[in-house]
Amino acid sequence: MNDSEREQLAAAACTAAEGAYAPYSKFRVGAAVLTDDGQVFPGCNVENASYGLCLCAERNALSTAIAAGARKFQAVAVACIDANASLGLNGRMPCGACRQWLLELAPDAELIVAGDTRVFTVRELLPHGFEL
Ligand SMILES: [Zn+2]
Repeated sequence: MNDSEREQLAAAACTAAEGAYAPYSKFRVGAAVLTDDGQVFPGCNVENASYGLCLCAERNALSTAIAAGARKFQAVAVACIDANASLGLNGRMPCGACRQWLLELAPDAELIVAGDTRVFTVRELLPHGFEL
């Protein structure tokens, strides 16, 4: 992927974040996954009054793609449009659960964080992750 393609995917993640259901945290997150054949699937976080049932944007996007038959992914972008700049990069990175999902479903994808120029691999995010 080139920088322009990464920016496009990050923009798709930002757009997805605008659809988030985050009445409790007020922390809207969007994700966009890019399949090997060029399809983009968006996802957003969906919260619940029973907090443990909240769904992250990354897992929402991956689930949507999987439901459509996608199995290979080249990139995943994440956008935390409400993140305070003081949080820095770590406040905008995928949580541990999403890293485990990425390892299972998109192990070769590169991870893009909207607003940051660095590109990460899934194995950088989750070294020695659980695999069967
Ligand atoms: Zn997560």
